[in-house]
Amino acid sequence: MKKEDCIFCKIAAGEIPSCTIYEDEDVRVILDLGPASKGHALILPKEHYDDVCSLDEGLAAKLLPLAARIGQAMKSSLGCAGFNLVQNNGRAAGQTVFHFHMHVIPRYEDGADIVSWTPGSPDSGELAQTAERIREALEKQ
Ligand code: AMP
Ligand code: ZN
Repeated sequence: MKKEDCIFCKIAAGEIPSCTIYEDEDVRVILDLGPASKGHALILPKEHYDDVCSLDEGLAAKLLPLAARIGQAMKSSLGCAGFNLVQNNGRAAGQTVFHFHMHVIPRYEDGADIVSWTPGSPDSGELAQTAERIREALEKQ
């Protein structure tokens, strides 16, 4: 179902113009207007899903192979050396548009700092306790 006032629903439906690099019955892939690097693309489902938690599983299974194809095409067409797949869920994770999308970000040999974090140093007890909490939650699903 399309959601009123969702900009990515409108872009995916072709109601708002975009630089489309791929389209089929389920998805539209566009260039990001605020790219992290040259060629930064967004895979948008045509159906509205807020985030990965509500995404249809059949569609989800299609997205990773598609992202790989897009990344390969970026390597051959733009000469990037690699690419990141980034997918934000929730405001705290940096999601700003609440229509599921996957970023495909070309990476060049330019040392750009695009996706990084400072590694923590949990001790083995903390790691074990954290793992136990998540395992328990998974078992309740
Ligand atoms: P996120 O932070 O994961 O929600 O990513 C949203 C992305 O959408 C950002 O990288 C924005 O630059 C991009 N964006 C927002 N509006 C548009 C638009 N109208 N066309 C293309 N990209 C957009
Ligand atoms: Zn939407």
